Amino acid sequence: MADPKGFLNHGREVAESRPVQERVQDWNEVYVPGSLLPIISKQASRCMDCGIPFCHNGCPLGNLIPEWNDYAYREDWAAASDRLHATNNFPEFTGRLCPAPCESACVLGINQSPVTIKNVEVSIIDKAWETGDVAPQAPERLSGKTVAVVGSGPAGLAAAQQLTRAGHTVAVYERADRVGGLLRYGIPEFKMEKRHINRRIEQMRAEGTRFRTGIEIGRDLKATDLKKRYDAVVLAVGATAARDLPVPGRELAGIHQAMEYLPLSNKVQEGDYVAPPISAEGKHVVVIGGGDTGADCVGTAHRQGAASVTQLEIMPRPNDDRHPTDQPWPTFPILYKVTSAHEEGGERIYSASTTRFEGDEDGNVQWLHLAEVEFVDGRPTQKPGTDRRIPAQLVTLAMGFTGTDRENGLVEQFGLELDERGNIARDADFRTNVPGVFVAGDAGRGQSLIVWAIAEGRSAARGVDHHLAGASALPAPIRPT
Ligand code: SF4
Repeated sequence: MADPKGFLNHGREVAESRPVQERVQDWNEVYVPGSLLPIISKQASRCMDCGIPFCHNGCPLGNLIPEWNDYAYREDWAAASDRLHATNNFPEFTGRLCPAPCESACVLGINQSPVTIKNVEVSIIDKAWETGDVAPQAPERLSGKTVAVVGSGPAGLAAAQQLTRAGHTVAVYERADRVGGLLRYGIPEFKMEKRHINRRIEQMRAEGTRFRTGIEIGRDLKATDLKKRYDAVVLAVGATAARDLPVPGRELAGIHQAMEYLPLSNKVQEGDYVAPPISAEGKHVVVIGGGDTGADCVGTAHRQGAASVTQLEIMPRPNDDRHPTDQPWPTFPILYKVTSAHEEGGERIYSASTTRFEGDEDGNVQWLHLAEVEFVDGRPTQKPGTDRRIPAQLVTLAMGFTGTDRENGLVEQFGLELDERGNIARDADFRTNVPGVFVAGDAGRGQSLIVWAIAEGRSAARGVDHHLAGASALPAPIRPT
């Protein structure tokens, strides 16, 4: 156990953020570099090493949180890193991007602020990279079996690393020009600098994983041809079919899906563009959708120099005086949390539904019309007489995803069955209806958190390993839902 009196002696402290005026001038991560390490031993000491650590239940990966809290308290960074990597391939990703369901589950949270699990995690892994404790783990012998992983987001990368380390020869196919999927082109630099992805990819290359970028399976290479080349295939293609907003004026110029807008900004950071082809500079920006992707659009628009940024959310605020009980989900905190992007300015409008867009004579969007909504029989209903319009010269749609993208023909070429939500159907071992083809991550689960994606990749890898070798020692932290 860490310090038995740690939670009595120390309150919760978290990473220090850079001042807003400073950080909106650049794209670097919002936290003060090095601000965590001096406080992290004390913070880790607050862990009570519960007999039944509820934080485990909160984490899909089953992270060994009390164990690495203890090592962090003792500043044994190598041992802490070892325990961290025992359940998580990429703690530097989750430590920056995960909303930390473990902290919501922390027992200390009953009558104090929970342990800063996420900050401890990121401190351990950053220290491990700094001291060279994160080394390639190439397999001792090869199985002679080959695996294609389609998609290089967190699920695909986790599956690929697990299978490579198990001795299989793994190639990751990515349709974009760089590896990383949503991690690279969906997540802004200010949330996670891409250098964290790059060094993991180098580690994976050194272990033997191969990467094939710029190849879209279904379009550039037929799925049936891919299947012939490999002993097994893992589909980790995400749930990239974006929900749209079919209201009058949707066709106007200046209205974009979030995943059209954010990648272009990230490509500027990669050096592909001097200026983003879609920019918020000088514009009144409206972001539709109150989740993390919406927040990423907000932070990006601030940094691009927007004239104003407004974020719309159809759900009411909990405990809002006007809507104390009229919503079907009494607690839905992910929509209401204040992210770093919200600290940087802008307005959030709740209980709002877009009714139409209005443009100028050149066909460019200029106004967004909205109405207030209330929930009637659990359904959002526009209130009569509440219509108004707000300026909108750039609109981003961040309303989630509806399932697997069908446009490239991958689903049809493989002959894959889908489930009732439009995701690729699979059994308890992550097998699709096509022998030798597995599915992991959002492609099977639907849109979810990065921590679930990594857990999916690890678990699917076990299914593949068992399929190829007849047995597997790989862990499977979760089962498909
Ligand atoms: Fe420590 Fe909280 Fe987990 Fe208990 S629930 S072991 S206090 S992190």
